[in-house]
Amino acid sequence: MDMGSDEGGAGPTPEPLPGRPYLPPPDIFVFPPRGPLPVSRGAPERRLARVNRYDRRARLVAYEKLTTTGTIRLSFEVVDGLPFEFLPGYFVGIEADLADGGQCKSPYCIVSPPEAAPSFQLLVRLVPEGPLSCYLAALSVGDVIRFRGPSGKSMIPKEIGTELVLVATGVGVGPFVSLSRHLLSGGFDRPVRLYWGLRQAEDLCLLDDLDDLAASHENFSYRISLSQPPPTWTGLRGRVTETVPPLLETLAGKHFYLVGNGAMIEEMRLALSDIGVDDQLIHRETFFNVKHRADPRVVGEIRSRFVANDLFSPFRHQEAGLFIPKRKASRQKP
Ligand SMILES: Cc1cc2nc3c(=O)[nH]c(=O)nc-3n(C[C@H](O)[C@H](O)[C@H](O)COP(=O)(O)OP(=O)(O)OC[C@H]3O[C@@H](n4cnc5c(N)ncnc54)[C@H](O)[C@@H]3O)c2cc1C
Repeated sequence: MDMGSDEGGAGPTPEPLPGRPYLPPPDIFVFPPRGPLPVSRGAPERRLARVNRYDRRARLVAYEKLTTTGTIRLSFEVVDGLPFEFLPGYFVGIEADLADGGQCKSPYCIVSPPEAAPSFQLLVRLVPEGPLSCYLAALSVGDVIRFRGPSGKSMIPKEIGTELVLVATGVGVGPFVSLSRHLLSGGFDRPVRLYWGLRQAEDLCLLDDLDDLAASHENFSYRISLSQPPPTWTGLRGRVTETVPPLLETLAGKHFYLVGNGAMIEEMRLALSDIGVDDQLIHRETFFNVKHRADPRVVGEIRSRFVANDLFSPFRHQEAGLFIPKRKASRQKP
């Protein structure tokens, strides 16, 4: 075939430019890529195609009212046939429809150990006028919930050989039950000490579970601290930020876990940091009061209650005047 002819509509063969090699006209057509074209982030196509992430299903199989003050334990079985795997510290996000046509969603930490999957348990505090906690409290056995997950931060310690100091307020104890059961049944042999802060004696629950853990594993112990104890109460008296610091004789080699109220978590964390605990060794999970800004006076009071002084604390050194501040180099020539 004479590529140089007019036949075929290829047009006349162009003369090569002086000094340049001849390049034939392109005979390869570039087609658009197969499949849907990429669309920009805000494009309506994307919004239409957005999948509901709360697309998993679980059925309530047991409902236990644990206290008269509004704590319930719910047991679910996953019914969507998809894998359900998690680590202690993970949560499920639950979504529900409201009576006004809206929706609400909130995360809840799993209380049962991973070995119980695909069944799981939640410990829920009923918050008056809280849409999702009220929805969960009103469930009946056999009801099916919509959820996503499980997801979250694993609580399994990364360092081998550390002791665990678990500090919870209210339902924040839930993931600690999961963690303790999982680690201890797997042969974890370092001390696990749980400190649980509650308001009043009526809030007490899960004692059988905790007693069972303590009876089966001598390295597990727990103490409960009531901030409004009755006169007959023989446990710890006060908030965990008051009662726990004097009980810790040493801080080195320990991994701290703080779960529950954001105020306790932030103030305890700062106090621990000030007395030398590495931030990497303080695991936090805030259930509410997320934006709490620590009060320096409260942090100072918590710090002063710690008796342990086995870690290097820049704060204490500075307080004791052991730091000689560097003199600013004068720019002026003598
Ligand atoms: C990672 C994560 C895990 C969580 N796990 C659990 C869990 O295992 N069990 C559980 O009960 N809750 C848990 N929560 C809290 C839960 O997600 C909801 O915020 C809570 O149930 C209230 O939701 P609501 O829709 O009923 O009310 P909302 O309208 O969301 O909250 C109403 C008010 O109640 C406050 N509040 C929320 N929780 C509490 C509480 N426990 N005590 C006192 N006040 C509270 C909120 O700060 C808010 O001011 C978790 C939160 C997070 C972020």
